Amino acid sequence: KCVPEAFDIEEEIIKTMNDYDKDVSLKKIDLIIGVYRSEDGDLYLLPVVKKAQQMVLEETLNHNYLSIRGIDEFTKAACTLILGDIEKQWNDETIFGFQCIGGAGALKIGADFLHQFMECTTVYFSDPTWVNHEPTFKSSGFKNIRKYRYFKKESKSLDIEGIWEDLSNAPENSVVILQVCGHNPTCVDPTKEQWKKIAKIIKEQKLIPFFDIAYQGFASGDLIEDAWVIRYFFQEGIDFICAQSFSKIFTMYNERVGNLMFSMKPSSEIDVIKSNVSKIVRCMYSNPPNHGTKTILKILTNSELYNEWSNSFTIMVSRIKTIRIDFRKALEDLGAPGKWNYITDHGGMFILLNFTSNQLEYFQQFYHIYVSPPGRLNVTGLNTNNIDYIAKAVTETLKK
Ligand code: PMP
Repeated sequence: KCVPEAFDIEEEIIKTMNDYDKDVSLKKIDLIIGVYRSEDGDLYLLPVVKKAQQMVLEETLNHNYLSIRGIDEFTKAACTLILGDIEKQWNDETIFGFQCIGGAGALKIGADFLHQFMECTTVYFSDPTWVNHEPTFKSSGFKNIRKYRYFKKESKSLDIEGIWEDLSNAPENSVVILQVCGHNPTCVDPTKEQWKKIAKIIKEQKLIPFFDIAYQGFASGDLIEDAWVIRYFFQEGIDFICAQSFSKIFTMYNERVGNLMFSMKPSSEIDVIKSNVSKIVRCMYSNPPNHGTKTILKILTNSELYNEWSNSFTIMVSRIKTIRIDFRKALEDLGAPGKWNYITDHGGMFILLNFTSNQLEYFQQFYHIYVSPPGRLNVTGLNTNNIDYIAKAVTETLKK
């Protein structure tokens, strides 16, 4: 007998995607998933990725298994991408990584580890957060799923007092998921000063920070700037875990490249932790895949390719900024209900609209524009051909 599951993993998103596929209208627009689309509306593949992929193919001599922890050079390059020079910490093993199956896989391995070996039963997410967070931690056995206030719906701004207060009341040993930049689904991030106080609370309350970084570079256009908060925790000597996704930042979604980074003070437990995480991986998928990871490793360790890759954020992010400015202007010109400064006050891939379920249905059925429920749209799906149509549709829908 198959028992129905209490939580519906991405059910609404999957339904929206099916509805989009079935829609025969020529007007239909897909703004559902957070993938980078170019001006012509097509899915974009970074030219540097294509180049690196070819190089990897030519160098591949065999398809031997990787180790449980994946390619050591890759996990080091991944941690370096966030923290800068980690030579010393890498050598004394206070920083180490596990190559994982995308960011989602890194979160799952981390959640299993925290529950099975660190006796964690309580996890806090921002409200709202990425739809996968809750089911992932539930499936790992976390009993207490809690939310900290994050977003003020009316003003579409950060509820920083709410974050501070809720984390100050969190019990010791609670895991706190912190989205580093380009917050999904709001794209509203704390400032450096606000992060500092979050770090202080986490330290005082003895909470376990678990960073989730999937959009490094997409918020400010600068890879180093976007990872600032993780480096701050590191400098403050706060132990942390971090799930890194490489899907968005390399426009390579189906190669499933991720890294689970651990950073901690010197301890005799490091070997035990490595062995415990290895056990989880061994039982789940034994060892990770090669090709996408080798491609990314090539880019991260070749200065010419690295420069080409990091410069591509300047182009992608400046396009995102232009779309945000144009979209705000179009909405304001049409007199769309509400304030729209939110759109240009923040960067990143998403804009969250406050649709009711009736409005969402109307928006999709009448205008054939599809967004992630309850109204998260992929900014890069907007372009000069459709931006006015989308602004008009949003305006009319919000007036309903
Ligand atoms: N974290 C966040 C906040 C995300 O938005 C995503 C992708 N939607 C991920 C992690 C996981 O990314 P992936 O598994 O595709 O690498």
